[in-house]
Amino acid sequence: MTDTAYTRGTRMVPGKPPNSLGLRMEQIQLGNITITRVWEYFGSVEMTPATFFPEIPKGVWDDGASWLSPHFLDSETDIVNSAIQTWVLRSGGKTILVDTGVGNHKERPYAPVWSRLETGFLADLARIGVAPEDVDIVINTHLHIDHVGWNTYLDGRSWVPTFPNATYLMPKNDFDFWNPENGHKPLLGRGNQNVFEDSVAPVHEAGQTLLWETSHQIDADLRLDAAPGHTPGSSVLTLASGTDRAVFVGDLLHNPVQILEPDANSCFCENPAEARATRRQVLGRAVDDNALVIPAHLGGHGAAEVVRDGDKFAIKGWAPFAPYTGQG
Ligand SMILES: [Zn+2]
Repeated sequence: MTDTAYTRGTRMVPGKPPNSLGLRMEQIQLGNITITRVWEYFGSVEMTPATFFPEIPKGVWDDGASWLSPHFLDSETDIVNSAIQTWVLRSGGKTILVDTGVGNHKERPYAPVWSRLETGFLADLARIGVAPEDVDIVINTHLHIDHVGWNTYLDGRSWVPTFPNATYLMPKNDFDFWNPENGHKPLLGRGNQNVFEDSVAPVHEAGQTLLWETSHQIDADLRLDAAPGHTPGSSVLTLASGTDRAVFVGDLLHNPVQILEPDANSCFCENPAEARATRRQVLGRAVDDNALVIPAHLGGHGAAEVVRDGDKFAIKGWAPFAPYTGQG
């Protein structure tokens, strides 16, 4: 990756609402829970489909170009488009963030596209009525570079928790895997360099982490479950409120093509066989429960309803979230 993608800026959205309709289309209600989408970034992550998803045949992308481009693929440049976004949940009077993106001012020597960002993410949170001190719970679905960034901010020379009153729910298996003291050798090599030190450890040292294993019930309507494979501690958040269902799947899939090709991993999946099995299991359960599937990185409408299609899956419909249009 180079830093050209981000500075090119043609599809960059920090600090801007995704369209002129403003908040109405950024928010949906499922049961008692309000879900609001806050963008940090949309655009290229400087990878072709063949690099990002080496197991998906080129023909699948060619066949889908008409609907994949531009929200999930730039078919002119043959580069994958991705969103970095935080899902803000209001449940039972609590404010809950699902994943915290890349963050500002982070030194990312092996991911220049995400190094030293200066986005208006906190201003965008404020725009929907969320100040840092209002956040009760932060969920990191896993501890990759693009899911923990706003856990902390730079205060002078120190990284300190951005959300001073929040409990940060982190999967213990990822906490242990990414802790440099444990000497693991991740697939990313040094791609996650500095992430544990600047975005995980300061929160833990402040006594604000809750490291969970297997499952964790947050409230009557929200539960975290282990869903390993993409990383050892990858997890999914299940929403069951009234008759509504949703599942926040993190990086179990990065692109809707993986719904059609559920055995296809991204190049970032630590345990390929486990990631495939987990993706099939979670998608199958979403079909059975009629649950909206909400991944971390989908552009466009951000989430989809899925159905079975033989031994694979298909997209039944999109969530009503507004796609990024390039209009501020
Ligand atoms: Zn990710």
